Amino acid sequence: MIPTGKHPVSRRAALFFPGFWLALTAALCLFWGGGYASRFLLSINTTSSSFVHDALFWTRRCRGVLCQLCPKQCFLPEGAKGQCRVRINSGGYLHTLVYGRAAAVHVDPIEKKPIFHLLPGSKAFSIATAGCNLNCDFCQNWTLSQANPEQLPADYLAPEAAVQAALQSRSRSIAYTYSEPVVFYEYMLETARLAHQAGLYNIMISAGYIQPEPLKRLLPYLDVIKIDLKGFDPRYYRTVVGGELSPVLRTLKIIANSHVQLEVVNLMVPSWNDSAPQVRALAQWVRDELGPETPLFFSRFSPGFRMLNLPATPAETLRQARRLALAEGLRFVYVGNVTGDEGENTNCPQCGQLLIHREGFVVLENHLRAGHCPHCDAKIPGIWK
Ligand code: SF4
Repeated sequence: MIPTGKHPVSRRAALFFPGFWLALTAALCLFWGGGYASRFLLSINTTSSSFVHDALFWTRRCRGVLCQLCPKQCFLPEGAKGQCRVRINSGGYLHTLVYGRAAAVHVDPIEKKPIFHLLPGSKAFSIATAGCNLNCDFCQNWTLSQANPEQLPADYLAPEAAVQAALQSRSRSIAYTYSEPVVFYEYMLETARLAHQAGLYNIMISAGYIQPEPLKRLLPYLDVIKIDLKGFDPRYYRTVVGGELSPVLRTLKIIANSHVQLEVVNLMVPSWNDSAPQVRALAQWVRDELGPETPLFFSRFSPGFRMLNLPATPAETLRQARRLALAEGLRFVYVGNVTGDEGENTNCPQCGQLLIHREGFVVLENHLRAGHCPHCDAKIPGIWK
């Protein structure tokens, strides 16, 4: 059970007697020192915002706290925020600033995630907060991911309310997406727990930059994870993504060894990660470490954020990557962001039969029979009903 946020002073009291609280805070400063007083002050402030919540996965250190949620391992002195901008040391305790702070809420076709092996044609109730623990030069959602939570308008959407809204929208799943759900971990964890109780599936769309312990604690509540494996070169990760490759590979292996269905996407950025040797190396690693049945997407890059100097990925580059990965033995390889391309379809890896015909976010045909090919009866991995 996730610890609940602490709001010991009601909003009404704080509003009616501000002088009293300031005087009391000053007294606390004198008796307890700055750390405890600022925590108390924060507790008053939280009454005007329900978004502040106790964080998980951190330890106290001399003159600060150490966040252990992701590989960045930020050390935060009193009052400091982590690199993700959404976790703060207040009074010697780590808090998240985005619990229920849903800055983006949409009902999307599941194909938009893109998730191809879970209930084709269904709707996914999609939520995100501000913040990210990476800093990709090509980020398509940078206005959300690179924002401070205070900069974005957001209504409080409690986990219970998110689940109710998902049910009312006739979504079959909740997707934690758009920015980086790792940084709204506590909110996602509780929402996912309640969503399972309500019979919804949970999907995390993530860059996979998370420590093993929090990941393992989350897995029982998730059904599908899509990991954005942004490249297969440590230098690319350091230069363009702002992180390290090895923790992402570790995350992928942990998921592949769990009950959770895994899909992988690689955004192909011209001249950075689109060479044939790099595509082959990535495909071989996915085949050997995650399994040949792991769906792999090669997605088209569009110029944006700090990468305006490069052209969009040519469709032929994506098709060539798909051919290379299929030749390496992967069975489900897709092309992303090229509407109408043959690489959007699911074909039977055994007999070649067209199973699911897609165009953009629309499913035009679905020939699967209880998760099997209607022609040769091969079992197709996924959640189909
Ligand atoms: S989750 Fe945020 S605060 Fe915690 S280690 Fe990662 S970047 Fe730092």
